[in-house]
Amino acid sequence: MTQAKTFMIEQLNNLLPQTQCGQCSFKGCLPYAEAIATGTAEINQCPPGGDDGIAALAHLLGVSPKPLNPAFGEYKPKQVAFIIEKDCIGCVKCIAACPVDAILGAAKLLHTVISDECTGCELCIAPCPVDCIVMLPVSGALSPTEKHTKAQLAKRRYEQRAVRLAKLADAKLERARLQKAAFAHAKVTRNEPQ
Ligand code: SF4
Ligand code: SF4
Ligand code: SF4
Repeated sequence: MTQAKTFMIEQLNNLLPQTQCGQCSFKGCLPYAEAIATGTAEINQCPPGGDDGIAALAHLLGVSPKPLNPAFGEYKPKQVAFIIEKDCIGCVKCIAACPVDAILGAAKLLHTVISDECTGCELCIAPCPVDCIVMLPVSGALSPTEKHTKAQLAKRRYEQRAVRLAKLADAKLERARLQKAAFAHAKVTRNEPQ
């Protein structure tokens, strides 16, 4: 990829709200930014960004804005997740679903949402087997600077999580490789003439 393309992707990504909800049909804001930059996605697929977000993308790209495509969802005022702790069974499914690591908890223990870090993506709702996560409205509008600061925090947490998951996947592959090698070695040793 050229430097110019990488720079454009970064700029596009910086204009996205970093909710990391996947409503645009991509697995996060960065993959959506990449798709816009390569011309495989339209600029009107991000419901959390709303009309302002589309206008910013259009301005950057020097094209005309268009209305949000309703096939990808509707713009909603900001919300955060809240866990009804008395009903939580500590299954950790919400933690696995949260794209920005905004949920604290461990197996068989109560879980809680760090509301300052929750992007309101709603991805933790469906996996909860006891329906004890609800979305609550956030009172008071954020200034553009506050919105940007929050988006940058979510972006960092999303990136840190991606690095952590990639390391876990590498470690799992390495364990499987070592197990396979140990198994092959044991087989050869068993078959050697005494
Ligand atoms: S906020 Fe959601 S819909 Fe918008 S770009 Fe990010 S992942 Fe896609
Ligand atoms: S706590 Fe739930 S709604 Fe909030 S960011 Fe995590 S998955 Fe999304
Ligand atoms: S998915 Fe629901 S029950 Fe499971 S840990 Fe999260 S909040 Fe608790």
